[in-house]
Amino acid sequence: MSQTDLWLKACEKIPGGVNSPVRAFGGVGGTPIFISRAQGPFIYDIEDREYIDLVLSFGPMILGHNPSVVTEALEKQLKKGLSFGACTGAEVLLADRILSMVQGMDLVRLVNSGTEATMSAVRVARGFTGRDKIVKFKGCYHGHGDSFLIQAGSGALTHGVPSSLGVTQGVAKDTLVASYNHLEEVEVLFEKHSHEIAAVIVEPVAGNMGVVTPAKGFLEGLRRLCDASGAVLIFDEVMTGFRLARGGASELFAVKPDMMTLGKIVGGGLPLAAYAGRREIMEMVSPLGGVYQAGTLSGNPMATAAGLAQLDLLEQEKPWAELALQGSRLAQGLRDAAATARVPVQVNQIGSMITVFFSDKPVIDTETAMAANASTFARFFHGMLERGIYLPPSQYESAFISTMHNDIILNQIIEKASEVFSIIGK
Ligand SMILES: *Cc1c(COP(=O)(O)O)cnc(C)c1O
Repeated sequence: MSQTDLWLKACEKIPGGVNSPVRAFGGVGGTPIFISRAQGPFIYDIEDREYIDLVLSFGPMILGHNPSVVTEALEKQLKKGLSFGACTGAEVLLADRILSMVQGMDLVRLVNSGTEATMSAVRVARGFTGRDKIVKFKGCYHGHGDSFLIQAGSGALTHGVPSSLGVTQGVAKDTLVASYNHLEEVEVLFEKHSHEIAAVIVEPVAGNMGVVTPAKGFLEGLRRLCDASGAVLIFDEVMTGFRLARGGASELFAVKPDMMTLGKIVGGGLPLAAYAGRREIMEMVSPLGGVYQAGTLSGNPMATAAGLAQLDLLEQEKPWAELALQGSRLAQGLRDAAATARVPVQVNQIGSMITVFFSDKPVIDTETAMAANASTFARFFHGMLERGIYLPPSQYESAFISTMHNDIILNQIIEKASEVFSIIGK
């Protein structure tokens, strides 16, 4: 089937043609490309057109596609069986590996997706504190659990209203929303609801409104407010964990959360995620404590093998400093190319996460992110796609690089971006 036929068929059989909304190219227009395979820094469509991949499965593939350490571990496991629903040695090794890499976490539970990790972490925090409300930030994404699909109503300081149909008012009233990087709004929420707030959940570096880094003192301020009220501080490191540093953003910014959620990289490209926390909090989890959480495929042998192989290699090679160097090289190259073409951009980059915002104002929170020109981004996206560079199909996503994105690859990206910027600048 051709791409067009596949897309028509997909739209007949799958809601919107996709199994996850951003894949539908709604943010950039046009129709998605269908992928047949990927290797290293490249991804190939079903007509075998090659693209340099800056999506990397939205984060997991930090070693590039199909790293042999991971595929060999999977081949080995393949011969032994796919799923047992019983204890395995690899689960223990992976738990140990995770806890040795992130800081301040005593116990970890494996689950199947980032969504499951954040949903479970919040339930545990509620069980631990005996409180109902959570604080989240506009523009931060924590998966599709009901509690997280809430935006601010009239002003950020009111009770939330659902931003998805099917989320009940009952759930919405327990989600309080503040603006990312605006500590003063969180202070107001704590003044009003100090003894009702079970948890603050935050992306320590925001990646789901495009890349936005935490303002000086923001994460420290959240730590202080949670300490003062007894609320649980949850860092959602599903994107940043094992990507920004060995111990994620928490290590990079030297702020210790009480709980942490992990996903994406931890599964090596297979469906695996995790939530971790301090001992007294995690001892609330069933069968030790009264907070129920379970999963038929949790700790699945194939996923565990892939995750363990990927983390083992990261631990051996410690590529984070090199990735950050490559990230800043790419960011500077894109800034220079845009300046030459007189296209106003803000290139937000930290480590191997990067977003090109089409804006003349620094992007520091949801408002400034939303002020960027999404239709110019759409032109940039399609110009790059035509030239063989596959970017995330939305202004509000992070692009990623892997250890396979060497200087030659980065130069190609910058060269193609120069061409596209110069068309946009005309
Ligand atoms: C991707 C992501 C999630 C959701 O993970 P899924 O595996 O897609 O359910 C949650 N939080 C953050 C920060 C993410 O980037």
